Amino acid sequence: MEKPETSNTAVPGSRLPAPGIYIHIPFCAAICNYCNFNRGLHDVGLRQRYVDALIVDIRSFADPSIQADTIFFGGGTPSLLAPSEVARIIQACRDSFDLSPDSEITIEANPESSTEEALNGFRAAGANRLSFGVQSFRDEELARLGRLHSSHTARQAVKTARAAGFDNLSLDLMMWLPGQRTAEWLTSVDALIDQQPDHASLYLLEIYPNAPLRDEMARAGWSVAPDEDAAEMYLEGLARLDRAGFEQYEISNVARPAARRSRHNLKYWQEGEWLGFGCGAHATFRGERWRTVSATGDYIDRISAGRDVRLDRRTLGTDERVEEALFMGLRLAEGLDLAAFHRRHGIDIWARYGPDLSTYVTAGLLRHEPGRRLALTRDGMLLANDVMTVFIGGTVR
Ligand code: SF4
Repeated sequence: MEKPETSNTAVPGSRLPAPGIYIHIPFCAAICNYCNFNRGLHDVGLRQRYVDALIVDIRSFADPSIQADTIFFGGGTPSLLAPSEVARIIQACRDSFDLSPDSEITIEANPESSTEEALNGFRAAGANRLSFGVQSFRDEELARLGRLHSSHTARQAVKTARAAGFDNLSLDLMMWLPGQRTAEWLTSVDALIDQQPDHASLYLLEIYPNAPLRDEMARAGWSVAPDEDAAEMYLEGLARLDRAGFEQYEISNVARPAARRSRHNLKYWQEGEWLGFGCGAHATFRGERWRTVSATGDYIDRISAGRDVRLDRRTLGTDERVEEALFMGLRLAEGLDLAAFHRRHGIDIWARYGPDLSTYVTAGLLRHEPGRRLALTRDGMLLANDVMTVFIGGTVR
């Protein structure tokens, strides 16, 4: 393969991170009533065959010139893997790529499958970051979502993770849950702060059209809070995290200072590159993008038969790259570096979009430091999608 067109060799002054590696684990112990991720019910035999296929897939892509510095096990529920399976997958990555010794290796974990044996094993296998899908610290809300854990299990999982030596721990919460009001949401935020994680993600629950949760809401008469309450939930939740010493670095993400931001996820927001392995995984690498077949069985069968699992491989167009760089960069609290963007893409953002953007600056939704930065204010983050419509369909010269 040719030398990567990444980061290391990019336009002077626009140095970007090394590629990351995403590994998809599509198994869950039960299916939550709101979930539309690529996942299915856990079956030990299927999982073992899947891991074997994953390893063949990773090794088939081997290229020691690829200098990766993150691995992210996402799902599904990666904590259902046996530690020996995690170790084999990490080893396959080490053997196949030039994996930096200080790589960030994250496992998404559900509290109920985070036993002492599992977490000790993941740590020994080389994982150094855990991301727990806690979603709420209120048992009533967890039950409504069909989650298998309780708030007690979540607190226990944090203790177990710390005892296992994980010093980089992230907790996810979801807001705007059915029947949840601002005070209840803030109870969960306070409980999260009490757990002293290194990182936290706050997501808005989106209930897709055919989600079983919709029917349950109708039956039980649960509704979501009005829009203005959702805004208050977001702003007050972040204000509490500010006061507790977290720094917001992206619309939905906060971290303790001192390098606890998700290095892997930053690649998505900073025009980075990543390889994706496993069913449904996407990749953006060396100017190309592709996806992997989404059905677990199809993935295993194709790998066993020596057939390609990558679909829709294409070169990213200039317009697409620029539009994505604008959308993703503006999600960051520090926003877009106007000079770096100009050097990398040859585009003066303010000259091109300024007339449309200035309305949002006047409204206090955007901060413009001429020649330096363009960033959403916190109020602007609530209306990020509206602001970003300015960038849609901009023609690149
Ligand atoms: S645990 Fe996560 S991936 Fe699995 S069903 Fe629930 S929400 Fe979906």
